[in-house]
Amino acid sequence: MALKEAKKNLQKKGFLDMEVDVKLDLFAEIDRLKKEKNAIILAHYYQEPDIQDVADYVGDSLGLSQQAAKTDADIIVFAGVHFMAETAKILSPQKKVLLPDLKAGCSLADSAPPDLFAKFREKYPDHIVISYINCSAGIKALSDIICTSSNAEKIIESVPRDQPIIFAPDRNLGSYLIKKTGRDMVLWNGACMVHEIFSLEKITKLKVRHPNAKIIAHPECEAAVLAVADFIGSTTGLLKYTQRDSAQEYIVVTETGILHQMQKENPGKTFIPAPPNNACACNDCPHMKLNTLEKLYLCMEYEEPEITMEENLRIAAKKPIDRMLDISAKAGL
Ligand code: SF4
Repeated sequence: MALKEAKKNLQKKGFLDMEVDVKLDLFAEIDRLKKEKNAIILAHYYQEPDIQDVADYVGDSLGLSQQAAKTDADIIVFAGVHFMAETAKILSPQKKVLLPDLKAGCSLADSAPPDLFAKFREKYPDHIVISYINCSAGIKALSDIICTSSNAEKIIESVPRDQPIIFAPDRNLGSYLIKKTGRDMVLWNGACMVHEIFSLEKITKLKVRHPNAKIIAHPECEAAVLAVADFIGSTTGLLKYTQRDSAQEYIVVTETGILHQMQKENPGKTFIPAPPNNACACNDCPHMKLNTLEKLYLCMEYEEPEITMEENLRIAAKKPIDRMLDISAKAGL
């Protein structure tokens, strides 16, 4: 009865809203379900630590899409946000793709509605579109190549210099890439609510209190914040930097979830999350954090909510992702 009711309310709530026995060992149960159902859990670095610890693979958007393309599991459980699970479905249509909470969206993806973007694109008929992977399947279908923050420079460099480019949807990443590559791209005016909230003033004060700490930042941050960073990189890029760099202290300017892996990989080092510009916990992505261990368990047990997609849209959205994966493979990424 509870299950029937929960399924009835699934679209409205976004997840199976059911009681989970508090005595249940969720780690053991999730492990059992993985084996029984030949399921793989792919988790983004911004997920809560417990979810990262039960995942088979933890990574950023590029790594996660590469894993989704090559896995031989029957079920992909995507612990991330909606566009990521959609990307897994685009790449592996024959597999069942589950997302613990359908409402785990993304402010950046939402900042580019496909109908408005289609009109925007019409104004630049000679341009090709490179879209950051943080966008809906509808935007991917309107794009020529997808990129992530790990491979964006290589993707842009793969396009002939006389070919004009529209970059969407993140204006901060786009501006950063214009500086890095010297390409004059037309930018869509989208942004991530988490990466825009960091306070330059508070980061500067933090640096005064921790003079030996290095500031490391994600390129989705605003230009003024990036200007004070010692290192700028994708989530994986930041993690790898902390492993090879000799500093002992870092001010980390991205979503706080990555600190779990940084701490695991570098037990002796100190990681300080950069503060947002007000007293909220806005450096935690509210969309990513909608997923919980309970919801993960429930979606594996009952195989809902599932990501589905119209085939025409899937095929159109797959082409630019395939181009990205090809270029990345050739570049050894
Ligand atoms: S951190 Fe920003 S870009 Fe990433 S999922 Fe959250 S809202 Fe989207």
